Amino acid sequence: IDWQEFDLNDVTSNAIHIIHGEAERRGITLDTNRPTTELPVRADKVHVQQVVLNLATNAMDAMTDADSARRILTFATGLEKEKAELSVADTGNGIPEERLSSIFEPFYTTKQAGTGLGLSIARAIVETYGGTISADNQPEGGAIFRVVLPLARRGE
Ligand code: ADP
Ligand code: MG
Repeated sequence: IDWQEFDLNDVTSNAIHIIHGEAERRGITLDTNRPTTELPVRADKVHVQQVVLNLATNAMDAMTDADSARRILTFATGLEKEKAELSVADTGNGIPEERLSSIFEPFYTTKQAGTGLGLSIARAIVETYGGTISADNQPEGGAIFRVVLPLARRGE
């Protein structure tokens, strides 16, 4: 593991940089909040990047049936209970309530050519860094995934 201290906000800008071409091809609008505060975390940045790209890929897959005017992928970062949070939200059909926990199990997939490994690997990575990952449905429709990591405090 290549431990580094970095700003979790950087992961959002990197993810947008990587997926914007694919998002455009799929008629998906990318949205993000303006970072309000630095979110220093300690982890292997490449691993965290992979987690967020996995979530973004799932979000894009979830919107293939949506009306193209309503395909929006939103990244947001912020402080949540003195931890750093990065969320990935979409305007797809959401996840049946009774599936919200099973989607993290290895090989659970609803896709023709899915591996069902993305979310189980994402959870394992996030837990390695003392964090959590969770899924929910948004009241206005679509799914939201939240990655929460401990803040790295300088001098510790
Ligand atoms: P895969 O993408 O290969 O299917 P994942 O572990 O990444 O495997 O996801 C598992 C399953 O969780 C998906 O097949 C899908 O049913 C569900 N899922 C994941 N993300 C979303 C999302 N944003 N909206 C709706 N369902 C989702
Ligand atoms: Mg996936």
